[in-house]
Amino acid sequence: MVMSQQLFSLDRLRQEIARYFSVVNPMDSGITKIEFEGPKIAIYTRNPEVFANQDQVAKDLVNLIKKRIVIRSDEEIRVPKEDVEAKIRERIKGVLGIIFNELLGEAVVEVSYDAPEPDDTEIKLLMAETSWVIRVERQPPMKTRTIEHVKKIIHGDPQYRLQALRNIGEKVFRNQVFETSDAVITILGSGRQVGRSAILLQTNESKVLLDCGYSPSGTRNLEMFPRLDVVENLVNELDAVVVTHAHLDHMGMVPYLFKYDYRGPVYCSEPTLPLMVMQQLDFINVAGKEGEFAPYTEGDVRMAVQHTVTLKYGVVTNITPDIRITFYNAGHILGSSIVHIHIGEGFHNVIYTGDFKFENSRTLDASVYKFPRAETLIMESTYGATPVPFTRQESEEMLAEYIGKAVGRGGKVIIPVPAVGRAQEIMLVLNHLFNEGRIPETPVFLDGLVIEATAIHTAFPEYLGREVRGRIKELGNVFLSEYFTPVRSPSQRDEILNMQGPAIIMATSGMLEGGPVLTYLREFAGDDRNLLMFVSYQVEGTLGRKLLKGLREIQLFNEAGKAEIIEVKMEVTKVDGFSGHSSRQQLISYLKAFKPKPRNLVLVHGEPEAIGSLARSASKILPQARVYTPQNLESITLATHT
Ligand SMILES: [Zn+2]
Repeated sequence: MVMSQQLFSLDRLRQEIARYFSVVNPMDSGITKIEFEGPKIAIYTRNPEVFANQDQVAKDLVNLIKKRIVIRSDEEIRVPKEDVEAKIRERIKGVLGIIFNELLGEAVVEVSYDAPEPDDTEIKLLMAETSWVIRVERQPPMKTRTIEHVKKIIHGDPQYRLQALRNIGEKVFRNQVFETSDAVITILGSGRQVGRSAILLQTNESKVLLDCGYSPSGTRNLEMFPRLDVVENLVNELDAVVVTHAHLDHMGMVPYLFKYDYRGPVYCSEPTLPLMVMQQLDFINVAGKEGEFAPYTEGDVRMAVQHTVTLKYGVVTNITPDIRITFYNAGHILGSSIVHIHIGEGFHNVIYTGDFKFENSRTLDASVYKFPRAETLIMESTYGATPVPFTRQESEEMLAEYIGKAVGRGGKVIIPVPAVGRAQEIMLVLNHLFNEGRIPETPVFLDGLVIEATAIHTAFPEYLGREVRGRIKELGNVFLSEYFTPVRSPSQRDEILNMQGPAIIMATSGMLEGGPVLTYLREFAGDDRNLLMFVSYQVEGTLGRKLLKGLREIQLFNEAGKAEIIEVKMEVTKVDGFSGHSSRQQLISYLKAFKPKPRNLVLVHGEPEAIGSLARSASKILPQARVYTPQNLESITLATHT
């Protein structure tokens, strides 16, 4: 029987820990139990000294055993909850509430937005005195229902959550049965198309799904859902789902897996979780309004949240016995990630970009392009064919000019925006243009999911770009300045529909597929003083794309639900330079800058023309690499032991 050196077992772990406490750092370990907690190993101790020095102990142990470790206190040494609460309220300013998790010995302290920065050493001292883990969370400057909702789901049933994490851990740390000798991907969606991203990565030991998206442009399930149906027993055998970012075409079908009894982990970055939940719930809601059924229910969304594990950028995490992942900034939307997937012990490394932007935007820093190792690069190709003729700077000028003209003739400006990403970017651009006096001061109204999505942005300042982070320190909420008014009621919306004079309306959805933007469009389409301005990619088949192609008679539903034919007389235009996707030039620069040089390049997430054109350029830039342009259902062997 072949035994690998890398075999992992709890017995070996116990030996390593014992050796650590006798040789490296001699003290009584006081260990009472060792448990799996999702992709981490939790060590419970009844020695308060070990608990108080947890940072050092955990760091040493991680170096020794190369697994993520968390040190927890045994119940026996914890100070009673009431006393901890009194101490916290006395010594931390602005406490709004404390959530105690008695199973873990953890207290989450919510402090108000304007409370003074809590002192790190003070918190450490409190932890040492009480033997409780204390985590301080600051309330964002804008209230967000979604983050509160997610917290309720995660903290509402700690017993269930802990059991779910233990089950996940059991699978992550199971003994590897087969040696890693193959790495194969199968394209279940996003093969020569934009939409329903889903790529299955298989080794002899593991099955991991990279994204699980929905396609907005199809009409039948076979066109809209990823082709999960083609892999037999997939939902039962899947080890993990990795979500790169919170756009429906990358995560819209995650709860669907839970509908069919998937109970494994979903990995994503911290901001991705609330942004994802917000849009999945909206997806259900919109389907209901249109008299259709969403492919899953709120219960399935809740189940998905209970099984979601968030990861910070740069943290290496074991997700199966032979796969480790690390997230890096993708520059596309808040929390968007490029995933580095390490297979086997140095067997193969895959970089999956998800959607990415290789340029600084007003909201985010440019995507990461250097990785420790990379044999295969799976890259999006949305703008692979047509170069964007304008730079960011020029696009801002064009936007200012269009708005200036429309406002000058007394018109209304409708900017359809996807809730997450472009909306916040355009808000920062408009802010800048107003402040510089480049466009006349005009009221801007935000309608739909944009408001909640912006609130979530204010909760994760550490994920925003360097420049905007600096301004947040100065100004607080940089998104919602005096120029912007959120529309929070139907009567407020009616006022805007009837108001005289110019206004700018930013509303969802970004491709005119539903959402409050259609109400404004119905009212304002017939007046040639008005302007409809697209700032994001319009997928083939959507109303947005049709209008850009010249369609001028459209069918919209009125309040009573009756279809009306509307003649579009307003000016229709698009300004491309704000896209969260890399332009053709940026995709090419990325291939040139990418380190180390990959052996395989797999192009996905682009229409056939875009992928074809990019593949031709890529072969010249990376003459040693094999370039793949797979269709859906195609499999590619990335590596195999010979
Ligand atoms: Zn995206």
